[in-house]
Amino acid sequence: MKRTEHFNAAAAEELYGLNRWGNGYLGAGADGHLQVYPDALPERAIDVQAVVEELARRGFGTPVLLRFPQLLAGQVASLSTAFDRAMEEFDYPGGFHPVFPIKVNQNRPVVEALLQSGWSHSLGLEVGSCPEMLAATSLALPPDALTICNGYKDAGYLDAAALAARLGRKIVVVLEKPFELDAYLDMARRQEVVPLAGIRIRLQARGSGLWEKSGGVASKFGLGTAQLLDAIERLRQGGLEKKLVLLHFHIGSQVTEIRRIKQAVREAARIYAKVVRLGVGLQYLDVGGGLGVDYDGSRTSSDASMNYTVQEYANDVVYAVKEVCDQEGVPAPRLISESGRMLTAYHSMLVTDVRASVKGFGGDTSPEIENEESMEIRDMGETASGITVKNYREFYHDALEYRERLASAFDLGLLTLRQRARGEELFWTIVRRAVRFSRAAKFRGEEFVELEKKLHEKYVCNFSVFQSLPDHFSLDQLFPVVPIQRLNERPMLRASLADITCDSEGEVEKFVHPREEKEALEVHDLRPGEPYRIAFLLLGAYQDALGDLHNLFGRVHEADVVLDANGEARIREVRPGESAGDTLAAFGFTRAVLVEGLQSALARQIKAGQLDREQAEELLAAYRSRLETYTYLS
Ligand SMILES: *Cc1c(COP(=O)(O)O)cnc(C)c1O
Repeated sequence: MKRTEHFNAAAAEELYGLNRWGNGYLGAGADGHLQVYPDALPERAIDVQAVVEELARRGFGTPVLLRFPQLLAGQVASLSTAFDRAMEEFDYPGGFHPVFPIKVNQNRPVVEALLQSGWSHSLGLEVGSCPEMLAATSLALPPDALTICNGYKDAGYLDAAALAARLGRKIVVVLEKPFELDAYLDMARRQEVVPLAGIRIRLQARGSGLWEKSGGVASKFGLGTAQLLDAIERLRQGGLEKKLVLLHFHIGSQVTEIRRIKQAVREAARIYAKVVRLGVGLQYLDVGGGLGVDYDGSRTSSDASMNYTVQEYANDVVYAVKEVCDQEGVPAPRLISESGRMLTAYHSMLVTDVRASVKGFGGDTSPEIENEESMEIRDMGETASGITVKNYREFYHDALEYRERLASAFDLGLLTLRQRARGEELFWTIVRRAVRFSRAAKFRGEEFVELEKKLHEKYVCNFSVFQSLPDHFSLDQLFPVVPIQRLNERPMLRASLADITCDSEGEVEKFVHPREEKEALEVHDLRPGEPYRIAFLLLGAYQDALGDLHNLFGRVHEADVVLDANGEARIREVRPGESAGDTLAAFGFTRAVLVEGLQSALARQIKAGQLDREQAEELLAAYRSRLETYTYLS
């Protein structure tokens, strides 16, 4: 084994990939602590371990979700700057209007932080439902910022949009299904101020990656060419042709290949130009979302990555639209981006603590055998003591056979439980030794490579995959994972991470790696009495909105952390996570119902003489106070 002196923070950044997927925001300090760089400058760092310890002192233990609002500002600036640069480079006359799709993260502190940092870029909002519209209407936006309304629209949603338009907002209702046109025309008859209209077009081009289905001719949304022409005609007849100012498309989230984006933009720009040439006064082309996040740092078109940069994306969008519009001789549109994942993914991380290590397959035991009657166990013991670098392959195959024989003997009732246990112990000792010897071998069989993968530890972490990493269990999406301490110390173990739900899906067994997925994460040994904490990163997009209450594990504590001008990290706001009483109430087990149930059970025990009144009161008080505790392990 290599000496720990050769390992340092830079080696940890390389090993875990912080320098590849961190986008300049993450790194390891010389003290081995995970650090966040709010301005992407390593000299101005937030020490994550120190923040977590401060929160614990204040009574907010792990799991805790840390939000870094300055990273939201960094991403807004990065998107706008990329488009500004591209427009300058290609001499693009239209403007750029980012809107934040609120479904990506509806938490008020997140939306407000984004709007604040996006103010100078006139960041607007994209909403996909009436409730999201109601939220957007209540938020302060810059005067020229847009609110784009997507999603299924009924009269109620459209009236809510008209209400916002009456407040002087720039509202664009995007018609994405033919029947929404009637609803829009009806609303226009009812309302004094009619919001602007857009049309979502259905493209041939589709995205790539896990969300590819959202685009293409068979997608759930968008008008085909004939429907588009029909819609224009009907708006004309209704006297609302002037309201139509925007064309929109969205080919799905996390588009992994730039080629797909170029194709879609070219196709959409062509449709835009042709519609303008029909005499419709369009002004905006909305290119939707889909701008990827490089979760695994590979810069490839793998599902967890993307084969382009933000600047390349902006360049390709701007260039393609300009080229098509020049050809068609129509003015270039103002461009709208609905990128949400790219804006929010980086800003939050979940920190959890490892509670226990479950060794799946026993450790290395002594092969000594005394007074053993079972021949299989004696054989197993001899194999374990005799295995060497020369014979490991053969001895391992022998052990497989002895194990079969042991199993049959146990089935026939010939072995005690103690003997069975001894046999299992010896078998895994042989496996460990065989794997160790195989590493020294010149030609290492695939068999031993596979075997080694099974030998890692399982660390049980205080969190719920279902609450905090929903896309991991539903879509197998990978998120980077890193210990937050001891990053200056070589991790000598490998572990998969299990959560505390009783669902076998509640486990993380795939980890990011630039070339291949890893089944286990490099971790350090657990030291008694010393917390060992692990962070799941890049959780800011979609995970907050989709998390569920599996096993009634609820929302985790949250803290907003900023770095001030003096370089001091400040915990700006802490929002306590849900209590057991809160998550129970979400399913009808309100506190009143629960307490009433307990009281009748207590009354029966009192009546039966099993409890006196005082004891019953104590139990009730204990139950009540349990309801107010955090749903996770304390
Ligand atoms: C979800 C969604 C987005 C956001 O996509 P990202 O990939 O997160 O940028 C944008 N527009 C529409 C219409 C969407 O449904």
